[in-house]
Amino acid sequence: MRFLSTRGSAPPLNFTDAFAAGLAPDGGLYVPQRLPSIQGLLEKGPTRYPELAAEFFQLLDDDHSKEQTNELFEKSYSSFEDPGNAAPLVELSDSTYILELFHGPTFAFKDFGLQLVGNMFEEQIARTGKAINVLGATSGDTGSAAIHGLADKEGARVFVLYPEGRISDIQERQMTCTGSDNIFPIAIEGSFDDAQRIVKDLFEDLNFKYRARLSAVNSINLARILAQCVYYIHAYKQLPKKHNEHVHYVVPTGNFGNVLAGWLAGQMGLPAEQFTVATNQNDLLFRLFREGIYDPRTVNPSLAPSMDIQVASNFERFLYYHLGEEGQSTSEIMKEIKKGNEVIIPEFDAGKFSATRTDDSGIIENIRKAKDHFNYVPDPHTACCFNEVANNQTTIMLATAHPAKFPETINEAINESPKHPILEKLRSRTPKKERLPANTDAIREYLEENILQ
Ligand SMILES: *Cc1c(COP(=O)(O)O)cnc(C)c1O
Repeated sequence: MRFLSTRGSAPPLNFTDAFAAGLAPDGGLYVPQRLPSIQGLLEKGPTRYPELAAEFFQLLDDDHSKEQTNELFEKSYSSFEDPGNAAPLVELSDSTYILELFHGPTFAFKDFGLQLVGNMFEEQIARTGKAINVLGATSGDTGSAAIHGLADKEGARVFVLYPEGRISDIQERQMTCTGSDNIFPIAIEGSFDDAQRIVKDLFEDLNFKYRARLSAVNSINLARILAQCVYYIHAYKQLPKKHNEHVHYVVPTGNFGNVLAGWLAGQMGLPAEQFTVATNQNDLLFRLFREGIYDPRTVNPSLAPSMDIQVASNFERFLYYHLGEEGQSTSEIMKEIKKGNEVIIPEFDAGKFSATRTDDSGIIENIRKAKDHFNYVPDPHTACCFNEVANNQTTIMLATAHPAKFPETINEAINESPKHPILEKLRSRTPKKERLPANTDAIREYLEENILQ
């Protein structure tokens, strides 16, 4: 299988090279040349999570043998609570389920992609003998997941930008209290979108990118998206037969990575009727799927900080398919979007997507509602799904983080503070971080001084 750029003017690459490249040289994102069928996996594939993931990747990756792929996934999910059932499906009522994606080392779904990415980078360093410097932006959870995927790995340094004061205390401590020398958390004086823009600018500075051996971990990374397809398949395989035909997935959404992975799995044959994009008050995607207009506004910090985003990077991949896999028109629209303008998407059809939006008071209310109706405590991101429970269709809500990552909000809603012993330990450690202005040159300078050559 080859991978193409969504902007149509970069050479096709095999899996390993597309992974290593991050952004394509024409500024696009890599997508598989054709989407394979997962019918065989749905019907007969393994139920053990790492084996299922390995079989799925064998449909896309021609560079690794079956044994190598198996080993890669066994290793990647060995840090999960129960590796064989890394994404347990919990029944809330007869037709409503929660897919718990927070049983990895940093208690958010991003571990699914980033444990894999960490191991793929390690393999790349061993193969090429060259160091890498990983650069990413985080709205809270990507950073710690990337850090835990790469902490103490030889030949790798990790630089993570995050918006100062806009992520939870625990999230910050997960990044700044690792005690690992190869980890460089950078608090910027700005929003997540500023952080993400700086990272994009640095990757588009090709000279600097190659000289500094930059690699990406943000949610545009191909391996992350593909790794996320697997838990949708895993969820399907856990459903009782009578419920597995017309499934409605509800997905807390920020950068559009998680829900896109589900949609891609749908394009590969996963029986899915609908994907609800659940946003917080930063509702770019809610408005986009209702009106077909990409209209970014300023970010308003919310109780679900990992979704405080008004730039949906992975939307470019959906746009590419929407425009009939046409790189030229994707490129033109993306250039308009990048200017920050309001852009009307031509002949927009939301297709299987629908959208729901929850503001902060709704998040509090939904946590209460979940507790009262289902005796279940969702984290503030997952709470954004609970607008959608009142139907008879099989509904799977994706739980993207452990509630113990956001004890203050949970406490405000239901007067209890969920705890996790591993997170509690972080409170007594000394944080290490750099505070810098939200300015590309300042960050470039800091990287120049601290990268591994
Ligand atoms: C990153 C994140 C999201 C948003 O996921 P996207 O793939 O960016 O749409 C939702 N919830 C939590 C807890 C997250 O960490």
